[in-house]
Amino acid sequence: MPTPASAAAVPAAAASAVAAHAAAAFDATLDHLARFLRVPAISCDPAHHADVRRLAALVRDDLAALGLARARVLELDDALPCVAAEWMQAGPDAPTVLIYGHLDLQPVKGETWTSPPHEATVRGERLYARGSADDMGGWVSHMAAIQAWLAVEGRLPCNLKLLIEGEEEVGSPNLERFMDAFPDAFDSDVMVLTDCENPSPEIPGLTVSLRGLMELRLTCRALSADGHSGLWGNMVPDVSMALCMLIARLSDADGRLKLGRQQVDPAWRQDAWTVPLTADVIAEGAHLLPGVRPVPDRGTPPAEWLWRQPAVTVVATTLPDLAHKKNALRKEASAVLSVRIAPGQTREELREAIAAALLAEPPGGVQVELTDESFSGEGWLYTPKGPAFEAADRAYRASWGRPMVQIGVGGSIPFVALFGRRFGDLPLILNGVMDPNTTAHGPDESLHLGVFRKAIAANVHLYAELGALGRAGVRG
Ligand SMILES: [Zn+2]
Repeated sequence: MPTPASAAAVPAAAASAVAAHAAAAFDATLDHLARFLRVPAISCDPAHHADVRRLAALVRDDLAALGLARARVLELDDALPCVAAEWMQAGPDAPTVLIYGHLDLQPVKGETWTSPPHEATVRGERLYARGSADDMGGWVSHMAAIQAWLAVEGRLPCNLKLLIEGEEEVGSPNLERFMDAFPDAFDSDVMVLTDCENPSPEIPGLTVSLRGLMELRLTCRALSADGHSGLWGNMVPDVSMALCMLIARLSDADGRLKLGRQQVDPAWRQDAWTVPLTADVIAEGAHLLPGVRPVPDRGTPPAEWLWRQPAVTVVATTLPDLAHKKNALRKEASAVLSVRIAPGQTREELREAIAAALLAEPPGGVQVELTDESFSGEGWLYTPKGPAFEAADRAYRASWGRPMVQIGVGGSIPFVALFGRRFGDLPLILNGVMDPNTTAHGPDESLHLGVFRKAIAANVHLYAELGALGRAGVRG
């Protein structure tokens, strides 16, 4: 492969020719993806850790075969590996773009799939398999773009590093240790984190916010032993009822958390109405039963409810279960509340508001205790501005016919919060190949083939646009 003498910007016409090459190679790319999808690299199940390692070796070998340098498996004690590789021949004046993705998968246990979950199956415009969109299609979209650049031009328009993690689906518990142990694998000028959503197959998404997550345990106690409900009912508190009454204090009449609501920027709110989260999209994406409608928006855009406001869900209780029915007042009852923290809100302020509501004047005089069960991280709110995002807009116009729309994520993605904390001074471009019908983490996970095509083309153009800015220009 020729080594370019200088880091001269690649003309836009070259990017179009490369994108055309990638489009012509699309079927081969699907075959490539299918090979990875066959590996059940499920990180939460130790029985599949050998598969994660097998996939890491397979991806390393493919990246080396693609023409990338230093393709390697990064190992740390007590961690599943990351794969890294790079192409640094664009010279010192070209920016270095870090691409992040993850190898590992969510389990499929207990799910009913239309076709085998670890076999790529195309039906209509979608490819079905666990990991198709979350996240193998994400990093394969980069492999396809790299392959096309090297095939057509013999070079990339920027320096590039790939970092593919093995533990994203278990919360990236060791990613920061990898950052500390292998700083060179992360050292870059701009980061493209490809494990996020698009609001529709026609609208590319740029993720700029996350909600944080904490779990609180609420316990009600009244008796030292269970008591006869016929003998004592009405004069002795029922802790199960008290627990339900306390939880109900947190919600409004629609069942939404009524505490800790955030003021959002009016201009942002106006834009949020244009996000196509219609009742039908929500009904299909969330598997609502026939006749069940989304919770009324009450004049607030659904996107705001999902991304910018706090929420609470009861995720576990010790309420008497159907199998252990008895005519008794129970001595204690607990619930675990999963609390989504709004971007820009602190864990402390939301916890304080919830504690104030739950601990005041307990029903029936029961003892009430609120303890911290877990904390996965604060929310994250990012302002994308500067030349790298203008470059991304141009790349998406060329590939999708429109710039990226700023979106949020209602969930808490630890790797994003971590990158935000460690590298928040760099341009962070959070894109991906998921769409509202992907059902990531669920049965029949799928990748929209049109989205995949456009994602590959977007990568082709993005490398060129970022490269054209030069290293000094990319950070603005
Ligand atoms: Zn993912």
